[in-house]
Amino acid sequence: KAINEEQLLSSLNGPQREAVVTTDGPLLLLAGAGSGKTSVMTRRIAYLTNVKKLDPWNILAITFTNKAAREMSERVRQWIGDAADDMWICTFHAMCVKILRREARHLDLTPTFTILDADDQASMIKQCMLDLNHDIKKFDPASVQWKISAAKNELQSPATFVSAGNSPVDPIVRGVFLAYEQQLRRANALDFDDLIGKTVTLFETFPDVLKTYQEKFLYIHVDEYQDTNRAQYQLIHMLAREHQNVCVVGDADQAIYRWRGADRANLDYFGRDFPTHKMIKLEQNYRSTETILKAANAVIQNNQNRVEKSLWSTKGAGEKIAVYAAQDAEDEAIYTLSKIQAHVGDGGRFSDCTVLYRANAQSRAVEDVLLQAAIPYHVVGGMTFYDRREIKDVMAYLKAIANPQDEISLLRIINIPKRSIGEGTIRKLLDYAHDEDLTLMDAIKQAKKIEQLKSAEQVARFAQLMDSLQERMIGATVTEFLHDVLRETGYREMYAQSSKEEDRARLENLDELDRITRSFDRRRRGSVLDFLAETSLMTEVDRNENDERDAVRLMTVHASKGLEFPVVFVLGVEETVFPHSRSLDTLEGVEEERNLFYVAVTRAKDKLHLSYCLERSTFGQVHMNDPSRFLQEIPEDFTERTGADPVQEARFEIGMSVRHPQYGVGVITDLVGAGEEQMLSITFRSKYGTKDIVPRITRLRVL
Ligand code: ATP
Ligand code: MG
Repeated sequence: KAINEEQLLSSLNGPQREAVVTTDGPLLLLAGAGSGKTSVMTRRIAYLTNVKKLDPWNILAITFTNKAAREMSERVRQWIGDAADDMWICTFHAMCVKILRREARHLDLTPTFTILDADDQASMIKQCMLDLNHDIKKFDPASVQWKISAAKNELQSPATFVSAGNSPVDPIVRGVFLAYEQQLRRANALDFDDLIGKTVTLFETFPDVLKTYQEKFLYIHVDEYQDTNRAQYQLIHMLAREHQNVCVVGDADQAIYRWRGADRANLDYFGRDFPTHKMIKLEQNYRSTETILKAANAVIQNNQNRVEKSLWSTKGAGEKIAVYAAQDAEDEAIYTLSKIQAHVGDGGRFSDCTVLYRANAQSRAVEDVLLQAAIPYHVVGGMTFYDRREIKDVMAYLKAIANPQDEISLLRIINIPKRSIGEGTIRKLLDYAHDEDLTLMDAIKQAKKIEQLKSAEQVARFAQLMDSLQERMIGATVTEFLHDVLRETGYREMYAQSSKEEDRARLENLDELDRITRSFDRRRRGSVLDFLAETSLMTEVDRNENDERDAVRLMTVHASKGLEFPVVFVLGVEETVFPHSRSLDTLEGVEEERNLFYVAVTRAKDKLHLSYCLERSTFGQVHMNDPSRFLQEIPEDFTERTGADPVQEARFEIGMSVRHPQYGVGVITDLVGAGEEQMLSITFRSKYGTKDIVPRITRLRVL
């Protein structure tokens, strides 16, 4: 049953309510973490349909992840029922795929275009570099890929390409960029960045098409606006500039994707480009305890380039923040394990607990101890189901059948299972395609015409197989089609014949894929193309989210954006880890790390654990990192410190040998004051000579 106005607005505070009912004209909703920005956006779209009686297809809501989009749709569905289906609630990428599939003909694409994943993109770029005779030992394809991606986010083409640093390798990158674009076109494929960029191009080139969408999306919403890039900004501006009904929601303190081309200045540009906008601020945080919130506020205040805002909570002080000084990563993991066990022992759930870290590699130590203790967990991001070889193979079959121009997918599966189509034959086919200006698939179909082609018979049979599968695709559900593919290609049989343990695991994964397609068929009844689009648009957070067990979650801080959990552990709160060493050179870099730390801290509702290691080994070398500057920025009264912290334990005396994290080993030669105030003179063996050191702020180890 539809919800009425009063019910929709009842639990909201004053400014939240104002944001919901200010439906017309540009609106900028700026507020700190946990203040209900996303909740307000959700209510606003329900308000538009239920109270303002707008048609659901006139509403667009853009979220940062597919998971967030699903949650928002579910929420809205509870309020407005099936009308929610007609509303576009999705990520930027998903929106652009929908538009591009409809409008493909304008862009020299067919509606069946393939979306390249990062791996496919990498191999295509590498291939282009090899074709151009570049020495890929000298020029790293990964860095070229990075530069091309950055250029696309800035809406540059090969013709207009200039790198940020205007580097001497620019001409090389430009050449690869050009070749890569040609390859993409031949393959009827787009990469991830293209999805946004090509939609902008579409709208720029075809004003009529743009007009259609301007008239469709009469009310536009964007969450996490501080992390939009230039292309995304441009897209929103184009869609909204006529009717001006656009609501963007953000928090400059949570801008954490600058390295991927995001620009929080987009918040300022909004003010400039929509001069009649209204700005609303939210100040009450409903998520975290006062202690957690005050700590977060205290840290973020150390950023210079920011607008001060107040944020308060009425949840009460709650527990202090636990700060644990671990001996090393293993000790840190054991601490985390023990606190999780204690939480569950007190009646909590594993899924209340989330472990956050700065870099993916940090998950391993925690995974080890969780495994040993048989505690259910899952890692969000990292190596996922869709990265597994057998799943990539099967997806490549689906892609190559749905889009016969998809050369990369075709090359992946042409000889799996083995059909005696070897390297030499493939090279010949590629050359023939190139000379005759054909796609690889066309060349394969003409195999018998190609002179001196070994295994022409096998190639012709492969062509027939692909043809007949293509016919079967029509009208079949994704699950039916998947079964056809697995059977007709002999792919499933290949593993069923094997007695190897790992091949049995692969069969299980194929069964899992079957479960996934079944759920897709139930949920959407879409085509194979829809299925491929949905899986290729999954972001770090969405992948592995099928897992609904009661399990501890492990993820990077980046992936935790927008989410909230009762108990949060932040690992490795150390200099060079968090803030990351890569970001220490510039003020901007350090400030973005601080934003990231602010995001981490504000994910916690009730209890926050921060830990750091006294010793950390990387590549077999033991380092001694200082505790993170961010830890020092949290007022002492909010924290409760435990662990092997020498600051508390060590009693320094003249004559004692100590190790300093930067200066190395030295001897204490003088000592003034005591406790927090204490200052030592230390004579180092190294070139640094004698220095005055305050043990409160420097981690010294007694030898
Ligand atoms: P972030 O900046 O992390 O994305 P946010 O500003 O989007 O946070 P939400 O996730 O929308 O905040 O809300 C945080 C929590 O506060 C949620 O659990 C939400 O249900 C709750 N909340 C928001 N507004 C209210 C309210 N008026 N009354 C009660 N709870 C609320
Ligand atoms: Mg949010």
